[in-house]
Amino acid sequence: MNTEVKGPQRTCVACRAEKNKKQLLRFVLSPGNDVLLDYQQRLPGRGVYVCSQEQCLKMAVKKQAFRRGFRRETKPLDFAQLQEQLNGAVEKKILNLIGMGRKSGAVISGTNAVLDALRKDPPPLVIMAPDISPSIGNKISQLAELKNVYWARMFSKQLLGQLVGKEERSAIAFNRGALADTLKFELQRFELLVREN
Ligand SMILES: [Zn+2]
Repeated sequence: MNTEVKGPQRTCVACRAEKNKKQLLRFVLSPGNDVLLDYQQRLPGRGVYVCSQEQCLKMAVKKQAFRRGFRRETKPLDFAQLQEQLNGAVEKKILNLIGMGRKSGAVISGTNAVLDALRKDPPPLVIMAPDISPSIGNKISQLAELKNVYWARMFSKQLLGQLVGKEERSAIAFNRGALADTLKFELQRFELLVREN
């Protein structure tokens, strides 16, 4: 998703940049004054927004921007706790999207089918299991890079298989569409927020 997405704007409490609400992470305060990630942006109450970047999240913690944003005392919070909440939320969202993709027939599954698609009609994204055989993994990642296709390594062969209703799957890809766009956005967010640490 790019910066030209239309919709309500909110300000990051760390860097003060104004962005589309959907591009920011929303936090709410629990009744016990814990700062909670509201990943789906649906929880009631006052929301505090932060860019989905490690830098802004760290700055928000350091500068006590949550306390200012909520205008009340919040329970002590560190970046590791935020990261743990994020990790869980993003992963859940990605799993849901893959499940939706399967139901709507948007998933290309299996290494041969993925390689075939990359050669003929490159899909917008590929997910490979980290336990894929190295030679096939290299073949897919090289071809994906050649064709400018975004790829990520995530989930085991077994889990990928379960997600698409097969036994084991080393690689899956997605047909073009809104679902693939959303999934790519979430995968990139996951990489930015979770992987680099
Ligand atoms: Zn920011």
